[in-house]
Amino acid sequence: MEKIQMKTPLVEMDGDEMTHILWKMIKEELLIPFIDLKTEYYDLGLICRNETNDKVTLDSAEATKKYGVAVKCATITPNAARMKEYQLKEMWKSPNGTIRAALDGTVFRSPILVSGIEPCVRNWKKPITIARHAYGDVYKASEMKIPKAGKTELVYTDEFGNETRELLHDFTDAGIIQGQHNTKKSIESFARSCFNYALDARQDLWFATKDTISKKYDHTFKDIFQYIYEKEYVERFKAADIEYFYTLIDDAVARVMKSEGGFIWACKNYDGDVMSDMVSSAFGSLAMMTSVLVSPKGHFEYEAAHGTVQRHYYKCLKGEETSTNSVATIFAWTGALRKRGELDSIAELAGFADFLEKACVETIESGRMTKDLALITTIPNPSVLSSMDFIKAVRKTLEQDMEKA
Ligand code: NAP
Ligand code: MG
Repeated sequence: MEKIQMKTPLVEMDGDEMTHILWKMIKEELLIPFIDLKTEYYDLGLICRNETNDKVTLDSAEATKKYGVAVKCATITPNAARMKEYQLKEMWKSPNGTIRAALDGTVFRSPILVSGIEPCVRNWKKPITIARHAYGDVYKASEMKIPKAGKTELVYTDEFGNETRELLHDFTDAGIIQGQHNTKKSIESFARSCFNYALDARQDLWFATKDTISKKYDHTFKDIFQYIYEKEYVERFKAADIEYFYTLIDDAVARVMKSEGGFIWACKNYDGDVMSDMVSSAFGSLAMMTSVLVSPKGHFEYEAAHGTVQRHYYKCLKGEETSTNSVATIFAWTGALRKRGELDSIAELAGFADFLEKACVETIESGRMTKDLALITTIPNPSVLSSMDFIKAVRKTLEQDMEKA
C-alpha cells in the first residue's frame, strides 16, 4: 500500500513522561506505516524548555499561527518538586497557558464515546463538548477582606482623571469584597471561536450566563454573543442546519442533564472549569477526553485532556509494565490530521483519521483495553493490555478495516 502524502506540515509539539513514550509508539505503529508524515517538530519536553529558556514553546505557538494546525503531547507544568527534579533555571509557565495566550484561543473538550464505557447519565447518547472561556472573571479578580464598618465602591478613572463610582456595599460590620473584570476583545474572541467550532463540528451551540442577576456583567457576554451571531454567523448556521441557543445557566444545567448530548456548551470561565469536570467524569474517564484550542483566526491545536501520567512513567522507568490509555493522544493526532486533510483537500488523510478512530473504538468494544477502562467497563471479562499491546491491537484492527474497505 502506498503511503498517504501530505502537503503542509503539522506542528508537532512533543512532551513529557509517559505521554512522551506513548507519542513515539503512536507515531511508529499507527502513523508512519500509513502516512508520509510531515511535521515541524518542537520538543516541549521540560529539559528542552529549560535549555531554550522556554523559547521553544513560543516558537511552537508561532509555527501554529503560520501553518494553522498543531498536535500537542501532554507536558509538565513545573512546581517546586519539578524545579528540583529537573534542576530548572526558572519555574517555567504552563506551556498550555503560553500557547493559549499566543493564539488567544478557546478550549473545547469532548468525550470519546465507546459502548461498554457508559455515561453515568443514562440519556447521554452523544458527546457534550464544553467550550470554556479562558480569560478573566474570578481568575483575575481582586479581593479584599473588610475588617469593620465602612463604605466600599467600584471606581473607574478615565484617561482625563474623571471618576465614575458605583457603591458596592455600605458595611455596618466586617465582610469581604471582590472586583472582577473581562474585556470586550476577549469575549468577542471567545464568541467567534465558539461559532467557528460549531460550524466546523456541525453541532448546535448553547451559551448560558446569569444575565437576569448580573445585568451589566453577564448581560454583556450575552449581548456580544448575540451581536456577533446576527452580524456574522446567522446565514452560515442556517446553511449548516444548526442553531445558536442562549438560556440562563440554571436552565442550561437542567436541560443538559435531560438531553441526549450532541451539542457544544459554551461556558464562562468559572462555569467551564466546574462543568467540564462534571461532564468528563460523568462520561467515564479523563483518559477518553480530547481537547482542542481554537483561535478566533481559525488556528487549531489538538491534545489529550489528561496530563503526563507521571505515576505510570516512574513504573516504566523501573522496567515495570504499564497499561496507560493512549486513546486521547491518538485522537489528538487524528483530529489534527483530519483538519490538515480538510484544509489541504487531501481526502485520504481525513479518511485515515476516521479509520484510526474507528479502530480504537472497535478494539475497546471487542473487550481489549487498558486497565483504567477495564475497571469501569460493562463488557464482561475484558482483557487488560499493556500500553504497547493496546496500540498493537489497534494497529491490527486498523489494518483489517482498511483491507476490508
Ligand atoms: P494526569 O497525568 O492526568 O494523571 C492523573 C491520574 O489519572 C494518573 O495517575 C492515572 O491514574 C490517571 N490517568 C490519567 N491519564 C491516564 C491515561 N492516559 N491512562 C491511564 N490512566 C490515566 O495528572 P497528574 O498526575 O495530576 O499530572 C501529571 C503531570 O501532567 C503534571 O506535571 C502536570 O503538570 C501535567 N499536566 C499536563 C497537562 C497538559 O499538558 N495538558 C494537563 C494536566 C496535567 P492512576 O495513577 O490511578 O492509574
Ligand atoms: Mg478544574
